[in-house]
Amino acid sequence: MQNEFYPFINLPLPYAYDALEPFIDTLTMHLHHDRHLQTYIDNLNKTLESYPPLKSLSLTSMLKNLPQLPESVQQSIRNNGGGVFNHRFYFNLMGKPSADYTRGPFSAALMRTFGNLQQFQISFKDAALSVFGSGYAWLVLDKGNLKIITTANQNTPLEYGMAPILAIDVWEHAYYLKNYNLRAQYIDNWFQVLNWQQAEQNYFHALCSQHIQ
Ligand code: MN
Repeated sequence: MQNEFYPFINLPLPYAYDALEPFIDTLTMHLHHDRHLQTYIDNLNKTLESYPPLKSLSLTSMLKNLPQLPESVQQSIRNNGGGVFNHRFYFNLMGKPSADYTRGPFSAALMRTFGNLQQFQISFKDAALSVFGSGYAWLVLDKGNLKIITTANQNTPLEYGMAPILAIDVWEHAYYLKNYNLRAQYIDNWFQVLNWQQAEQNYFHALCSQHIQ
């Protein structure tokens, strides 16, 4: 991941704001990236300015080691550092749908764990619908096993020693303009713009990171 160290900047989206139409609308992408993510970036930088030693730590190492950070900044880094990590992860995972995602090691692993891809999608959607209030649903690698989990607010799976592969942001700001309160409709649309090539890369990265641990 680029820009892993202070000062954090708002990296441009890896596609145009309107690239996900008609599934995710242009205005939502502008507000979500340029305002919501920007706010997390500004607040994370502000927090780190008050604790210069933390400026030498990468974003992921801070999130993996929250209990070792000064107590007075833990919550801000969980919220704002998590907000930066989660949004970058979520934005990078969307794009042009790949032609065929039913082949390859990642699909094979999904099928081994969930039976088939349709069952995986049903389980993932159920998890995303089950988030009460604001949070995320994730597919993670946990001690070598694929698992679907949810997190509240901007908490990350890194905090729990898990390696993320897929993430859907189910805060209302991610879908309210287009879908109003219909989160299920947004989740279906999100599957349409899920970049499976990136997902497979995340899967390989997760395998390597857990192997190193
Ligand atoms: Mn968001």
